[in-house]
Amino acid sequence: MSNTSKVIPITPAPDAAGDQEQALYEVRKKIYPRAVSGWFAKWRWTLVFITQLIFYGSPWLSWNGRQAVLFDLGARKFYIFGVVFWPQDFIYLTLLLMISAYSLFLFTAVAGRLWCGYACPQTVYTEIFLWIERKIEGERPARMRLDEGPLSARKFGLKSAKHGAWIALALWTGFTFVGYFTPILDLGREVFTWTLGPWETFWLFFYSFATYGNAGWMREQVCKYMCPYARFQGVMFDRDTLVVAYDTERGEPRGARSKKADYKAKGLGACVDCDICVQVCPTGIDIRKGQQYECIGCTACIDGCNQVMDKMGYDRGLIRYASLNGVSQHLGWKEMIRRVFRPRVLIYTSVLCLIITAASVSLYLRVPLKVDVIRDRAALSREVADGQIENVYRLQIMNTQEEPRKLMITATGIDDLKVGDLKLPLEINSATTQMISLSLRAPAEKVQKGSNRIQFHIVPLDTQGKPNPDEFSLHEKSIFFKS
Ligand code: SF4
Ligand code: SF4
Repeated sequence: MSNTSKVIPITPAPDAAGDQEQALYEVRKKIYPRAVSGWFAKWRWTLVFITQLIFYGSPWLSWNGRQAVLFDLGARKFYIFGVVFWPQDFIYLTLLLMISAYSLFLFTAVAGRLWCGYACPQTVYTEIFLWIERKIEGERPARMRLDEGPLSARKFGLKSAKHGAWIALALWTGFTFVGYFTPILDLGREVFTWTLGPWETFWLFFYSFATYGNAGWMREQVCKYMCPYARFQGVMFDRDTLVVAYDTERGEPRGARSKKADYKAKGLGACVDCDICVQVCPTGIDIRKGQQYECIGCTACIDGCNQVMDKMGYDRGLIRYASLNGVSQHLGWKEMIRRVFRPRVLIYTSVLCLIITAASVSLYLRVPLKVDVIRDRAALSREVADGQIENVYRLQIMNTQEEPRKLMITATGIDDLKVGDLKLPLEINSATTQMISLSLRAPAEKVQKGSNRIQFHIVPLDTQGKPNPDEFSLHEKSIFFKS
């Protein structure tokens, strides 16, 4: 059975030979991808295992007595193992998005839709859902017979089992997804006691429904009609990009033949027109028609065709990973790899390295303590006992680390400037923001009238109460005022 799509005519049915039908849109014809094995399939499954191990496993890891990876939106803190990100660290999210975008540009320019074929959640979940479908309903011909046959107890049983398994996996996926935003152990407890909050309930079912719908029902339609990346990838390709390509010169003219026949003597190419490459294709296209935007670069057709070539005793690689120039100009791997290093790729690589280096250095040098000094605007200054001038400040201190800290606070800029009314060293809890009020005092005769530049020094102390040499001290400028 072919995977070609049925066409809905928008003009009346032709009544004379030669009249052309015009298609307004195509009705989807269900695709029954045939299972395939081979070198690329192994890689694809390896990536499915790795990505899913990370996705399903990460929320269960713990670190310092809390969930290792937790995006706590309520507390506005993102925990990723030993690092805590605050809203002030928004720049790292920007850098992460830039790294993702440039990686996508780079990998697409070099090797086409690697992301789509191997790591995109849509591909990965479709692959898993298809695996379940095969285990329950059987291989491609069995699935097609089952769908075409009348409803029977067996059909009902198989379909119920498949959808039951899909729904269970989708719900577990939704649960795991929400577990990145709510501690997963609490979430599990809430599920079992029916005490889930409204937002958790919404997102759990929404994500589960999206997984079930996209991987179970929509499948290739998401890639063909919904994904914007499929539409703009064309501008990132050129004739030296490595893509899944059919060697037309070697394959055509295609045609059936016996294994022993000398096909060249018969004027045939290497393609035996077995249709395997179409049957294994998850988007149902025929790669022999050339590059098509529906091709997600999954390489299933390469494995499928290589199996046929092996059976026929022909050289592998009638469909292969190659650049279009490589195929048309008969280039070897060395020459194609040499052409990978073209200006566009070098620019993407340089920008990517630059952003990664900047992000790494900035993360390494990130000070785990942040301080904001705010002058008390209610009273600019006042005279207190012993002829001292006093100014009041509010300090917002953020400890981004997961250990409590002891801090010494001093100020300089005026002789004999002292901190008053504050118990020092200051103790600040782990991963918190604390607002403290403190006053500075200086002898009136040592303070000039008007504004005086001063500086606060916030120094982390070690367990002995001495300045910790491994930690950054903070120095914040401010003004001391005398009226
Ligand atoms: S044409 Fe080949 S590489 Fe492209 S989607 Fe189909 S099977 Fe995958
Ligand atoms: S699998 Fe290979 S031999 Fe068979 S039809 Fe496709 S290109 Fe031709």
